[in-house]
Amino acid sequence: MTPLAYILAAQADPEVIDRIPSGFSPFVLPFTIGVAFMFSWIGVGLIRLLAAIPKSDRIKFVKSLFIPKTALKNIKDLFCDCLFHVKIWQRKPLLGYMHSAIAFGWFMIIILGHIEVALFVPARLNVTRGGLFYPIFYRYFVWMNPGHTTLRGAFFFFLMDFFLLYILSGIALAIFKRFRSIVLGMRHTTKPSFADRVALYSLWMIFPLRLLAESFTADLSGGSFLTVPVNHFWHFLFGDKLWFMPTWWAYSICLGLFFAAMPFSRYMHILTEVLWILLRNAGIEPNHPRKGVAEAEIYACSSCGLCLDACPMNVQKKNLKYSSVYFIRFLRRHNEKKINAIAEKCLMCDKCHALCPVGVDAPALRRAQRATVNNAIPFDYSYLSTASGSTLAGETHATLGTVRGGTGASLCEASGGAERSEAVARLRVLPETATGKVLYFAGCMTHLTPRIIKSVEKVFNSAGVDYVFADREGGICCGRPLMLAGRTEAAAAVIEANKKMIEESGCDTLVLSCPICYKIFKEEYGLENIKVVHYTQFINESAGNRRSGRHPC
Ligand code: SF4
Ligand code: SF4
Repeated sequence: MTPLAYILAAQADPEVIDRIPSGFSPFVLPFTIGVAFMFSWIGVGLIRLLAAIPKSDRIKFVKSLFIPKTALKNIKDLFCDCLFHVKIWQRKPLLGYMHSAIAFGWFMIIILGHIEVALFVPARLNVTRGGLFYPIFYRYFVWMNPGHTTLRGAFFFFLMDFFLLYILSGIALAIFKRFRSIVLGMRHTTKPSFADRVALYSLWMIFPLRLLAESFTADLSGGSFLTVPVNHFWHFLFGDKLWFMPTWWAYSICLGLFFAAMPFSRYMHILTEVLWILLRNAGIEPNHPRKGVAEAEIYACSSCGLCLDACPMNVQKKNLKYSSVYFIRFLRRHNEKKINAIAEKCLMCDKCHALCPVGVDAPALRRAQRATVNNAIPFDYSYLSTASGSTLAGETHATLGTVRGGTGASLCEASGGAERSEAVARLRVLPETATGKVLYFAGCMTHLTPRIIKSVEKVFNSAGVDYVFADREGGICCGRPLMLAGRTEAAAAVIEANKKMIEESGCDTLVLSCPICYKIFKEEYGLENIKVVHYTQFINESAGNRRSGRHPC
């Protein structure tokens, strides 16, 4: 049967003729099966994921969808993060262009395909009449009535060709990136898994095959600046009759393969990212290292590989395998052995999180994983409450002294006997007389560089700041090392004790010279009536008040 046999007799009126009355052709099956499999898989996964979220969070999530401010943020984030990849554009424009060309271009082709069907053959939007595949293969199913193309129709032809060309430029860059990633600003790229490869190669083929298929039928179903010239070229090569069925079959098979491989590949992020953004904007925190919200976060990772270049550990090429992207990959696979092996191999600098275009907090996932193992280690910090408790209550400065004389990490590990007695004795060292409202906490890292302490004190003294040095005699653990080790319960005990001591000191400003301490005191301590500032901020404010203009460093 020649293609021309499909052509209906020319009709006078409609611009578009639904040329196959059944609205079906067997070539749509690979696509339809692939997409049905993908949606079934995702449907089951979604139910499982939502079931793992506490009921109160589920209610919060649903409510957030109707809060105008959150809804607007959702729309903005969905467009900026999922379609335009603004965060990648900002760092690496060519890479950003590549991602947005594929994501936004594909999105537009799907939307425009549905609009075309709605405008020209609306009955075909019905699922029972081919609604699932008709808009995707629209150019196969319709015949443009010659001489009746309207401006509206021509405009859609132009848009469809324009977005197809846009996607093809993104695909060309993606293929080029596989061989010369440095040109797109990436020193390292992720190693694809088997499923990634199937999906990746299918994706590379989908759009060139779409061009092939649409150009083969462009003289029947219409086209624009891209598909029509290519159609002329095929006619020039193959003569009047173009055998177009193989091209549509190939296009459908590649789509089907892509969607069938999607749930097992990195491309699962295309849909999961949407859920992750909605959950994130609803303010729902993970309550489990791998289930519920955490699962959405894990699957939202696109394996873009940006965290590979960001990680300071990767100056050594052999450390690449410990990067966040691989940690997340093993979380997806529930490979407990690999997960535990990689979970510990990280500096917890948070750089990968800060740079991640979808905001995947990989260090937090590592912490959660470490907690599953390390929280089981027993601890006893009862001496902390003894030291800051009733014996010193009412004595502001004496209580402060419990902080001053303490030793952080070593105390954290003290678990009884002589060691603990010694530790408690050190906690009881009385402080210097303090009347100031400023408490300076140097922290263990600053104690490693005493010049900073000297300089900070010099500035305080020159500015006449009435301050108390909380840890002159030794370092106090802020709790962060324990938190990073996943010993969240032990960290909570230390934080609670420190917090009590700081609050009882009577200070209204806590000055820190270590950025790590600053982060943890600010974010984890919940010091409500005490201002927590880094010394640079303090000096800046003091300079504003004409109290000091000198920098300690
Ligand atoms: S964690 Fe973020 S930066 Fe790293 S590969 Fe995944 S999406 Fe990209
Ligand atoms: S947090 Fe860990 S994985 Fe992420 S950039 Fe820092 S060292 Fe690398």
